[in-house]
Amino acid sequence: MLTNNLGYPRIGSKRELKKASEQYWSGKSTYKNLVQVGKNIRKENWLLQKNSGIDLIPSNDFSFYDQVLDMSLMLGAIPKRYKELAEELKNPLDLYFAMARGYQRNGYDVTAMEMTKWFDTNYHYIVPEFYENQDFKLFSTKVIDEFYEAKQLGIITKPVLIGPVSYLLLGKEREKGFEKIQLINKILPVYLEIIEKLNDLGVEWIQFEEPFLALDLSKEEKEAFKEVYLKLKSSFPKIKIMVTTYFEAVVNNISLISNDLLVDALHIDLVRCPEQLEEVLEKVSSRIHLSLGVIDGRNIWKNEYQKSLNYITKAVEYRTKDTIMIAPSCSLLHSPCDLDLESSNTNISSEIKGWMSFAKQKLSEVVTLKQLFLCKEGDPILVALEENIKIHIEKKQSKQIHNPEVKERIHAINENNTVRKNSFTFRKKEQSKELKLPLFPTTTIGSFPQTKEVRGWRYQFKKGDISAEYYNELISEEIKKTIRWQEEVGLDVLVHGEFERNDMVEYFGEQLDGFAFTKFGWVQSYGSRCVKPPVIYGSVSRPNKMTIDWTTYAQSLTTKLVKGMLTGPVTILQWSFVRNDQPRSITCKEIALAIRDEVKDLEENGIKIIQIDEPALREGLPLQQKDWAGYLAWAIEAFRISSSVVSNSTQIHTHMCYSEFNDILDHIALMDADVITIECSRSQMELLDAFADFEYPNDIGPGVYDIHAPRIPNADEIIELINKAQQYVPEEQLWINPDCGLKTRGWQETKKALEAMVSAALQLRESVLETTE
Ligand code: GLN
Ligand code: ZN
Repeated sequence: MLTNNLGYPRIGSKRELKKASEQYWSGKSTYKNLVQVGKNIRKENWLLQKNSGIDLIPSNDFSFYDQVLDMSLMLGAIPKRYKELAEELKNPLDLYFAMARGYQRNGYDVTAMEMTKWFDTNYHYIVPEFYENQDFKLFSTKVIDEFYEAKQLGIITKPVLIGPVSYLLLGKEREKGFEKIQLINKILPVYLEIIEKLNDLGVEWIQFEEPFLALDLSKEEKEAFKEVYLKLKSSFPKIKIMVTTYFEAVVNNISLISNDLLVDALHIDLVRCPEQLEEVLEKVSSRIHLSLGVIDGRNIWKNEYQKSLNYITKAVEYRTKDTIMIAPSCSLLHSPCDLDLESSNTNISSEIKGWMSFAKQKLSEVVTLKQLFLCKEGDPILVALEENIKIHIEKKQSKQIHNPEVKERIHAINENNTVRKNSFTFRKKEQSKELKLPLFPTTTIGSFPQTKEVRGWRYQFKKGDISAEYYNELISEEIKKTIRWQEEVGLDVLVHGEFERNDMVEYFGEQLDGFAFTKFGWVQSYGSRCVKPPVIYGSVSRPNKMTIDWTTYAQSLTTKLVKGMLTGPVTILQWSFVRNDQPRSITCKEIALAIRDEVKDLEENGIKIIQIDEPALREGLPLQQKDWAGYLAWAIEAFRISSSVVSNSTQIHTHMCYSEFNDILDHIALMDADVITIECSRSQMELLDAFADFEYPNDIGPGVYDIHAPRIPNADEIIELINKAQQYVPEEQLWINPDCGLKTRGWQETKKALEAMVSAALQLRESVLETTE
């Protein structure tokens, strides 16, 4: 029985890689330094895993930016626009970073490659670009170098490669007329070349990441799987090939796996999909090793040993012990590094810390499970099991987790709490009487520039260098300036600017019961960017008002309407580590009730427009379409619980970031927000297509310019976009707004862009007047 690890966090437990990369990019440190930091992290990770007792230790799970981009470089899948840069750039890492981040220097203006989410995680990868006549050849030898590097340290690792089929499926065709899977025969020789070199160095196991094996596959894709592994195995019969799947069950492809897939080991995710175990055991030949992913690689809770041992016991009914491996469910890339670093964190009680486990601790859990399974009666290791059982019993009974009041409220939710008093048509009349907004009303999405200064104040305040009174004074001043400026430029619905918020989820989490915050619980999001998700450990409730003071203060400064600004329940859930002892849907309802209380308070305090942001609604969609309806039902219900408490004349807005929701537009309509603002300036046409197919019933603000770039739009192009939108959406339904919050922008460009936007709205109103006269 082997212990197996799929991948380890590579940012360093103190985010050393983040710091080193950013210093290198800004020219403050050398190439040599960055390379050395990478080397240190790899060494530390390998030794840690070795000392923990992991048998199959991964290599090439390290990356300076992204493992999919690494694979593109290995295969020489470098788009032409970067090849032209190769001369300009001094070393291969610079070419790599240019692909990841773009290159605007010395007369070059090359955009970055596209980035997208890694399945349903918050990790983002760089999307490979494919062209019909593209050639592939071994370009970077990273995987080979790292295997050798570990070997020098006395560790024979298991190199990790993105499997050929999944690599192609992760990418995008950049020209018409072919399908990416057809490139399989072109990339295969490069894989063979890489394996050959690994073989020469004495590799035993190679891990091929094939997460698509757990999703729906076409006939050609299945065929590709079959041929690829037949070819690999027949070329290198002595090398052991492991194929890893995660985040979904493999049952849909079970006959492909059991009849046609020539591999030596299969890894399955038993945390997300425990129900697949039985079928896999029945159908997959016991000749193939089975790696049981029993330790949650995506959450921060201690494993329940007894539950995992039951899976292993079940497996042993079907096959011998030596064909079973024990592993985390997926790469530990998605876990924070080390719980030990939280020992000085007094914000989390030791009871709650006792329930947690980060990447380093998960390694020990894997090893302990193996020892527990193999041990005989009376073995001292059994104490670990007893202790683990005790912790979980105590957790189940802990007052920190279970708040009977919250449970009662959840229980009492009925139809009436999830619908507005009247239909949108009726509400719209009431709102127009109450709010008196012009045609094409203008607004923003909430945040205004979070300048260095603003962030500096918060930093000083948190450190205790400035008093709360002084901090509040500074924020008040900033709000006042922002309100004045919005009045001057002539926006119709104002916002306070969100200067008091560090992050749209953390700000609320910090004020809600049931949340805890780690100090070093960083997880890589993309490149050097890391997030530190809040931890939801118990019943969520709102002990105090959260946004009323700042919002009413802002409203008191102006006779114009100020929009209250909240983060929605689905987004708070989606961007946190969530308790695993009750369904996510229940936790989401608890958050929804807390937000509902805040919405009610805002209304009672005279706020007439309230925005509840749900940028993460789309990304919570399950990987398999068959599960979409179930998710959407509870996610949308949660939004309605938080928003439906208001009277007809109070206007509810929501905002979503990614424009890729054409396929769920009908569900978004069911949220029944009075106004939805969406990101779509980068793919305006695509979104409008959806409106051609589906008549969106309520008001909508299709973002009129892209806030992700510093470029300033002019009024004419905004008018043009709105004119296009008018072909699909009646003008009475249209709002004019940027496509997202402005916190990452500077003031100068923000002012110019919004001036153009307001001027566009004025001209549009004029032209309507002219035509009706
Ligand atoms: N109200 C938020 C802001 O303006 C929305 C951010 C988001 O959509 N991610 O910053
Ligand atoms: Zn947004």
